[in-house]
Amino acid sequence: PVDRSPEIQEARLKLPILAEEQVIMEAIKENPVVVLCGETGSGKTTQVPQFLYEAGYGSENDIIGITEPRRVAAIAMSQRVSLEMNLPQNVVSYQIRYEGNVSTETKIKFMTDGVLLKEIQKDFLLSRYRVIIIDEAHERSVYTDILIGLLSRIVPLRQKKGSPLKLIIMSATLRIEDFTENKKLFRTAPPVIKVDARQFPVTVHFNKRTPQDDYAGECFRKVCKIHRMLPSGGILVFLTGQAEVHSLCRRLRKMFPYRGKQGSKDEKDEDAQEAKALRAFKKSKPKKKVNLPKISLDNYSALPMDEGDEDREAGGDDDEEADRSDFDLDLEDAGSDEDKESDSSLPLYVLPLYSLLAPEKQAKVFRPSPSGTRLCVVATNVAETSLTIPGIKYVVDCGKVKKRFYDKITGVSSFRVDWTSQASADQRAGRAGRTDPGHCYRLYSSAVFSDFEQFSQPEITRRPVEDLVLQMKDLNIEKVVNFPFPTPPSTDALVAAEELLIALGALQEPPKTGRLRVMQSAKLSCPITPLGRTMASFPVAPRYAKMLALGKQHDCLSYVITIVAAMTVRELFEELNRPALNDEEKVILTGKKARVLQMQKIWAGQGPAQKLGDLMVMLGAVGACEYSGLTPTFCDRNGLRFKAMMEIRRLRGQLTTTVNSLCPGVSIFLDSKMQPPTESQVHYLRQIVMSGFGDHIARRIQPEELLDEKWRNGYKTPLLEDPVFIHPNSSLFRQLPDFVVFQEILETTKMYMKGVSSIEPEWIP
Ligand code: ADP
Ligand code: MG
Repeated sequence: PVDRSPEIQEARLKLPILAEEQVIMEAIKENPVVVLCGETGSGKTTQVPQFLYEAGYGSENDIIGITEPRRVAAIAMSQRVSLEMNLPQNVVSYQIRYEGNVSTETKIKFMTDGVLLKEIQKDFLLSRYRVIIIDEAHERSVYTDILIGLLSRIVPLRQKKGSPLKLIIMSATLRIEDFTENKKLFRTAPPVIKVDARQFPVTVHFNKRTPQDDYAGECFRKVCKIHRMLPSGGILVFLTGQAEVHSLCRRLRKMFPYRGKQGSKDEKDEDAQEAKALRAFKKSKPKKKVNLPKISLDNYSALPMDEGDEDREAGGDDDEEADRSDFDLDLEDAGSDEDKESDSSLPLYVLPLYSLLAPEKQAKVFRPSPSGTRLCVVATNVAETSLTIPGIKYVVDCGKVKKRFYDKITGVSSFRVDWTSQASADQRAGRAGRTDPGHCYRLYSSAVFSDFEQFSQPEITRRPVEDLVLQMKDLNIEKVVNFPFPTPPSTDALVAAEELLIALGALQEPPKTGRLRVMQSAKLSCPITPLGRTMASFPVAPRYAKMLALGKQHDCLSYVITIVAAMTVRELFEELNRPALNDEEKVILTGKKARVLQMQKIWAGQGPAQKLGDLMVMLGAVGACEYSGLTPTFCDRNGLRFKAMMEIRRLRGQLTTTVNSLCPGVSIFLDSKMQPPTESQVHYLRQIVMSGFGDHIARRIQPEELLDEKWRNGYKTPLLEDPVFIHPNSSLFRQLPDFVVFQEILETTKMYMKGVSSIEPEWIP
């Protein structure tokens, strides 16, 4: 029996899903798999676990598990359900990558989908669970898709074993056919229960014009207008990332200051704390040896960590971007008379909301805003379906979303801000009609909207899959093509992944039939090798995992860890070839360029070390940075991006912990005084790089072969018709070695190789 407070009970009764409790529980009793879909806010996430608990599912040693694609949701929902049920947090708990409050008492466990995937690797049948709820299935995160595929097989296995597992797939009302009408996934289509939500009408207003760049500024102006002119009701703004969210919050707080007792103190405290932390950080003396906390290997998944993407920065120039926009705002605030003084309207109670925001700050959006204020939540798309904020009447939608893009050829990924899909935009609009009729202001024209794609593509179809294939093989799923994906990746993507993994030695080579031909089907069912298993436990893509697996030899491991960390963090160096704003900046830039060039020459080493090329420069830069204590000043002086260097430090720590736990005899530690590699180590390091990038080899076109001028100083690669080049900024530009291995090709004015080091011709098979 659950003992709820009268207020909670009253609020619950208003939720449409409560009227369906019997129908839902009946369906779950009768069917192993049930699909439940309903508008955001209808009560799926908070109520279904309670229905199950009250029906006796979380009794004795059984747990009710709920997966969320986002950490925010896992934490917030566990807290909410614990509160509603009047049960402590060690009973209704959460587990995300690094933290959680799960105990032996836990009956209801909210977790990120990556956490459950990791549990499947340990206990394929998930014997501790009686029910698994896959929540937010419409988000189509790679993990969610794979979990549904795996669970479609685990459910019948549990049935056979006589301890049935129930699977509930919950989704917003969006394209559920991928789950229900996919015979490979569920031979008998699971029943679909639709929950009708009382959705009030939302009037959608399009902009006549679509702003070119400054959608954040447009958001600001729109919120000001709404607040000054329209009747009471909360405002929810959708932006694309953390920096934008903070920047708009600051601007709005300045415009409509809230001087209430608690809120302003909070805000001031926040600012003061941040400033203090920053000062402390800037002052902190470098420690001689960096002691990193031990991270248990179980706590992180070896799959790519896409969760929280919207909190990452697009492109390479992120921190400058953030700083610059703040600077711009101040200028603008001082300049335009509209913004000169703070406004005397009602105070605006402004709250940020994004994935990586601290949970106690996230929780604020659910509390009533102080009386005499209007609530304004500035959010990334976490507020689209994962969290329902009460009292929203106005939605301001910039129409954009931050996404990860992958180059089909090079596999290189980047974060870019792009238009969202029509389905997402409609979800965002729907947030305005939860409690009353509402309004949605779209900061783009209806013509632009009609060009949006209808639905966002499932993530799994948009990226290379060698990492997923390796993880599945590690789960002993040999025929990945036969895996019941809700939406499968293309066969081309799967073949490419398997070929690469064979080349890396992670999978066994298929037997050759007849005239040395390998059948396509054989190519797609190669078993994993012991090396592959080791590689699967590193939290980096297979190419880099291969380098790490080989690094043990010849005492190279700490160098390999550093090189891998530097290679996987994008853009170590600041872009100095940007146009200067004025003469003064021009002088500064020129001076800096000269200095950076000089430093890079030093980092590139002397004698044989130079053969490691760009990777030696990376090694030298990381070494120098750590030696000097990794300060923003040092980075700025030497043209390094502070944020990238911090990320490298973090990743080096993670990789070091992983290596130590995989090979207990090795015992690597991070030394801030890394000696340069010896001549023989350089030799092996070049070979190790080649082991991961054996297909990224280029041969210099010799002068006597030169038939076409465009090939002068060019290199020939196996796959491209056209020449590729070594960039003038590369430490190998003056040498132009005959054979090189490269990390990627980037097309700008020419096709340039990045991350180049030289190799010996006799190494090439
Ligand atoms: P769904 O999963 O169907 O989108 P939820 O179960 O998340 O719906 O939300 C149901 C209701 O509970 C919503 O009206 C929402 O505002 C409310 N709610 C959810 N979390 C909280 C919270 N932490 N505080 C107050 N209300 C909440
Ligand atoms: Mg939900």
